[in-house]
Amino acid sequence: MRVRSQKLETVTKNVNMSISDNLNKIKSSLPPHVTLVAVSKTKPVEDLMEAYNAGQRIFGENKIQEMTEKWEAMPKDIEWHMIGHVQTNKVKYMAPYVSLIHGVDSLRLLKEINKHAKKNDRVINCLLQMHIAEEETKFGMDEQELSDLLLSEEFAQMQNIKVTGLMGMATFTDNEAQIKKEFTHLKTIFDRLQQKQSTVNCQPSILSMGMSGDYLIAIDCGSTMVRIGSSIFGSRNY
Ligand SMILES: *Cc1c(COP(=O)(O)O)cnc(C)c1O
Repeated sequence: MRVRSQKLETVTKNVNMSISDNLNKIKSSLPPHVTLVAVSKTKPVEDLMEAYNAGQRIFGENKIQEMTEKWEAMPKDIEWHMIGHVQTNKVKYMAPYVSLIHGVDSLRLLKEINKHAKKNDRVINCLLQMHIAEEETKFGMDEQELSDLLLSEEFAQMQNIKVTGLMGMATFTDNEAQIKKEFTHLKTIFDRLQQKQSTVNCQPSILSMGMSGDYLIAIDCGSTMVRIGSSIFGSRNY
């Protein structure tokens, strides 16, 4: 099963531009203050290695087990970012090595991350995920929930996590005005957070927004970190 899907990937890859071509093209379009997370979910290690050999060192995955397998198989100077929804019972598998968790949207999850970070004697950087899209299905908090979380006594006690910024996803639509409105909203929340909050475990400097279809809009709206998958690795066959 696994072998067959890898073969398919190889075929798709050969008819398109190479991964390193795609990567270089995207990198040259990013301003220097914007960090590129190469989203490699569902892709085989050979594809990730092609990006690695072209200089990419930050990879994003959305399943903890898949990310852990790739972490084990690949060079150790890679930063692994968890960009998907995190199940609390799986935090322990990534706690030893994960660099940044983008999708934290509850105090309960943050507590779990803090617990496992402590067991591993490290501080894990986290982004709080905000709900900015119209769709009901996307995860994330509103501004009130964000504020309640950050002002809570429990949060103040957490010594093994650090909130380093916010993450959000715009509505999946062709309507650029709508995408722009949602990203601008997130930027406003981020600016307010930066103005009022700088404590030991909350030092917001990262605004993670923008994917293959909307990253240029996101950068215009103030993104400092883009998460790009299909424009680098080609489309995914789930
Ligand atoms: C898959 C995914 C991406 C990348 O999507 P592309 O459209 O392939 O660039 C970015 N962010 C999150 C949270 C994702 O799940």
